[in-house]
Amino acid sequence: MFAAALTEVILASEHAPITWQAVATAAVAYAVAPVPDIDQPESWVSRHLPGASIVSMFVRHRTLTHSLLASLLLYLVLFGLGFHIPQWLATGIVVGWVSHWLIDLVNPMGVQLFYPLPWWVKPPVPWLAIGVESAGETVIRVALTAFVLIFALAYLLLHAPVEVQRAAAHLLPAARRLVGAVTWPWLGACCRFLHLT
Ligand SMILES: [Zn+2]
Repeated sequence: MFAAALTEVILASEHAPITWQAVATAAVAYAVAPVPDIDQPESWVSRHLPGASIVSMFVRHRTLTHSLLASLLLYLVLFGLGFHIPQWLATGIVVGWVSHWLIDLVNPMGVQLFYPLPWWVKPPVPWLAIGVESAGETVIRVALTAFVLIFALAYLLLHAPVEVQRAAAHLLPAARRLVGAVTWPWLGACCRFLHLT
């Protein structure tokens, strides 16, 4: 859900039009987001992807696959080797992958973000740490799901034909406020620089 939310914020920050590619980017990010946990034998990916559990025998949980190094390599492979991968697919994969360790940073264990350096990056204060399957995680999941749905509807409304906007005129100010609050020019500029469009 965090991957979908992050994709929406990125697309809004780039003032992206509503196209099937935009929807596909969010869908790909959503699908790819669980993959870094391939380093954990009990994870959904390890249990459902044939042969995936082998990875966890060699890679310690929340190290290599959760590192800046792996994200950078993934980015370079998708964008730097001239494979002509569709932009929406490459962007979805990178955003989904990065979103995973970003949200894992709130975990009490943290992640070995600078792997192979041995530093674990974790929440600076214990009350910010949210454990797996804790009540805090449920709250975050519900909040993110609500955000993803409400934000998508607000963005759709702001890009809807005039007649639709007129019919839902009472909702327009709230939609403008919500979309405006998470439309960050700096994020749009960063993503354009990285060709994440
Ligand atoms: Zn993880």
